[in-house]
This record gives sequence, C-alpha cells and structure tokens, in this order.
Amino acid sequence: MKLQARCENCKAYLSFHANVADRFELARKRGEKIDLSCSHCGTKKAFNMNEIKAVENKFLSIAGLLIFLGGTVGLFAYLWPYFFKTSYIYAIAGLIGVLTIPFFIYQAINHGQENKVQYFNSKRYG
Ligand SMILES: [Zn+2]
Repeated sequence: MKLQARCENCKAYLSFHANVADRFELARKRGEKIDLSCSHCGTKKAFNMNEIKAVENKFLSIAGLLIFLGGTVGLFAYLWPYFFKTSYIYAIAGLIGVLTIPFFIYQAINHGQENKVQYFNSKRYG
C-alpha cells in the first residue's frame, strides 16, 4: 500500500510503502507516530496516524492498463486465425470470451486498489 503524508514546511508529499490494511495495523507495525524526513526541504517530523493517507499506486494502475492493452492485442493476434477456421457460433463466442480476460484482470487490479485505499482512509485512528 502506498501511503502519503504532507510536509508542513514545504507542502511536498512524502510517500512510503507499508503492507497494511488500515491505520491500526500501521500503528502496530510502525509505532503510533511515523518519522519521515522530507526529501525536498529536509524537515523531519513524527506524523500522527490520521495525518497519513493511502493513495493509489500509479505504477500498479499503469501495469494493469498494460496488461489490459497488451493482453487484448496479443490474444487477438493469437486467436485471429481461429475466427476463420471455425463456423460454430459457440466457438466464436468462446474466443470473444477469452478476449475479455485481460479486461477483467485490469478491473480486478484497479478495483482492488480503490477499495483498499478507501478502506484505509475511512478508518480513523484513535
Ligand atoms: Zn518539506
């Protein structure tokens, strides 16, 4: 999970990663306050749990999008000859069904991420 706090001095976002579901788990693993130093201005601060927010991991979103685009194009290129070889409507429907797999993977990644971020941010610590 990508987590973010904001530097009080220069307002830059400080991000770090922790494998936690909510602020309670974060407090258990990393302590009630989290020491972060700003990479922009060097200010150090111990952040309270409620000052820390979960954000979506852009890398994961992009990876999901690439799986979707690459997977769909790749599968389409691979399956293309079979569209002509078969005249069974069920076989064609099956091929089209296979083409939707990358989209579902993409949706699962994005949805999973959204839910986790919302869950983390909705539960306040204390
Ligand atoms: Zn700063």
